[in-house]
Amino acid sequence: MIPASVFNGKVVALFGLGGSGIATARALVDGGASVTAFDDNPQSVARAAAEGIATRDLREIDWSDVSSFVLSPGVPLTHPRPHWSAELAQAAGVEVIGDIELFARERRACAPGAPFVAITGTNGKSTTTALIAHILASAGRDTQMGGNIGRAVMTLDPPQTGRHYVIECSSYQIDLAPTLDPSVGLLLNLSPDHLDRHGTMRNYADIKERLVMKSGLAIVGVDDADCRRIADALEGAGRRLQRISVQGPLDEGFFADGTMLMRAKGGKVQALASLDGIGSLRGTHNAQNALAALAACLDCGLSPTDIQAGLASFPGLAHRMEQVARQGRVLFVNDSKATNADAAERALSSFERIYWIAGGLPKDGGIDALKPLFPRIAKAYLVGEAAPAFAATIGEATPFEISGTIAAAVDHAARDAAGDPAPEAVVLLSPACASFDQFRNFEVRGEAFREAVRSLAGTQMMGSK
Ligand code: ADP
Repeated sequence: MIPASVFNGKVVALFGLGGSGIATARALVDGGASVTAFDDNPQSVARAAAEGIATRDLREIDWSDVSSFVLSPGVPLTHPRPHWSAELAQAAGVEVIGDIELFARERRACAPGAPFVAITGTNGKSTTTALIAHILASAGRDTQMGGNIGRAVMTLDPPQTGRHYVIECSSYQIDLAPTLDPSVGLLLNLSPDHLDRHGTMRNYADIKERLVMKSGLAIVGVDDADCRRIADALEGAGRRLQRISVQGPLDEGFFADGTMLMRAKGGKVQALASLDGIGSLRGTHNAQNALAALAACLDCGLSPTDIQAGLASFPGLAHRMEQVARQGRVLFVNDSKATNADAAERALSSFERIYWIAGGLPKDGGIDALKPLFPRIAKAYLVGEAAPAFAATIGEATPFEISGTIAAAVDHAARDAAGDPAPEAVVLLSPACASFDQFRNFEVRGEAFREAVRSLAGTQMMGSK
């Protein structure tokens, strides 16, 4: 727990009492603030009260005493319309902030030299965050990881010299962190997402840009137009900047050449690391994540040798192209997190001979965008509500069956893949759909896949689970 000592003696109102909201309230109380908390859900209010947090309807408090209003990132700040609590705070002229801002202020006050790597982007945030934390920890650095992944930031150990923080930040969290100043800020990529909450693409990009604007070093993926514009603006403003690209060589910065991670510096190009044979980092999207990690870890003072060792031992994240088992030449991969065609495209591009389990609750656009990858699919096993529509899109392009359930699909795909003469056949769950027709969430769907694989005869499970 990080006591928010910078709020000592202050009156703070807080809205949003989910897990991270309660943790934030505790951190404020521990730091000596007087906190009044509330939520629209009476059960959340009751739970917080049971934990000793002072609760009261924020419509009934005297806002003139309040110095800061802490809002949970899940609650709308601006779009589609500001939550009533944010409107009350704004009307009273009270700053509206979130837990990442609390952390940034506490670090500045207590241990400004503690390395703080903040990561954002539309895709790859969790993978890159986990990868950087893994590389730093493997090299013996005191490392804390959290934010939008794993533990809420204020539940981490308190800042001290030499302690490294690797913090994933969503756009909502950045929107609530006006003085965010990581020592290393990473912006991986930008594509339209969450526009319901941010209004326009430009507004979304402007919020993401704020993470790198005050970074000691800004690391920016320049493979999309918005990120290129942001990198140019940072350079123009004289900020320390490293560009990364998986699309081709850069004159200055980090880029991928196949599986090699290269650095161009002062007219010299050097290979610094390789992803060859690292199963958890397959695919160009992971090369982008690995380049970002390489640039960040070098700035933290790690050697290329340490970084290579960390890359090679990275176990990967559950449900994201996670290698779960082998059965002879057949590899079983759980990519349950791929809830749209765009994400499934990355997985399908990463393997050559695929027994593809897909379907669930369909999303707009279906799988039309995946047609160019159909030649890689030996057979498709369709599940859930999307099955008939996916079958219609596949048509004659590649064999398919309507399996109905994940268990049946795994069973049939494993049987068919076992007879495939290819050096590596892959049974891949990459649904291109949400899971809610058959599962509570994508994690439960991924676990169902893992269990179905485990129950096959002769599979060798991989990883710790
Ligand atoms: P996030 O935390 O940003 O949602 P994750 O690391 O959890 O990202 O990855 C989610 C999915 O996004 C992965 O299954 C993969 O398909 C895709 N992905 C991962 N990294 C990238 C990247 N750098 N660019 C594009 N897509 C990516």
